[in-house]
Amino acid sequence: MGATLEALIALRDIELQIADIRRQLATKQNSVARQAAKLRTAETALAHEQADLKRTQVAADAADLEVKSRDAAVTKLRDNLNTVRTNKEYAAIMAQLNNEKADRSRVENRALELIGEVEAKRRLVTEQEAAVHAETQRLSSVKAQLEQVQGSFAERLAALERQRDEAAAHLEPKTIDLFNRISERYEGETMARVVQAHPRRQEYLCDGCNMSLAAERANALLSRDEVITCDSCGRILYIDKHT
Ligand SMILES: [Zn+2]
Repeated sequence: MGATLEALIALRDIELQIADIRRQLATKQNSVARQAAKLRTAETALAHEQADLKRTQVAADAADLEVKSRDAAVTKLRDNLNTVRTNKEYAAIMAQLNNEKADRSRVENRALELIGEVEAKRRLVTEQEAAVHAETQRLSSVKAQLEQVQGSFAERLAALERQRDEAAAHLEPKTIDLFNRISERYEGETMARVVQAHPRRQEYLCDGCNMSLAAERANALLSRDEVITCDSCGRILYIDKHT
């Protein structure tokens, strides 16, 4: 194998390691993003429940005020009873008083119902606050994991990037362009070995896609340090004479 193909193989090995590190980082970044989304969902639910509690509290306060105003009306009617002079007046005020008492009892029931609702909703808010707290803690934990992975990979990534530049320095710009295009397409799997399909026959296959390869191309690879790509998958071909 010539210098160009050797440099390409070195570059491929480096690219694969870089791609592997990037994948691991991306996995952690995805966990952080997923957890951040979970936290936002929990926060939205909390805001919703807080607003609902507030609305119910306002209604409960209004009902309470109404009970008080009905109480005042009842008291006033009772006072009026002491000042009536005729049976007719007495009967009229009694009728009013009974209506007022019935209304008061209805409003009081509603007020009690609302107080019950406020308590139940307050419990829901407390539970949701705990859920938000738990999701916040999970988020800081996955963030810490990401930072730890980033920290441990930073040095290795920098070293690999230096090695990649060194390997690339042995190659022509157009070869590097070709390599980069294939690398993007196959996530760093830029090279494919050429294998002999049969030990006694001159039949060759691309190990990347298993498609057959003309014998003259395989021979060109054996005799010259040439960049040849597979017609089917487009990877750069090489023949490993040791296997
Ligand atoms: Zn192929």
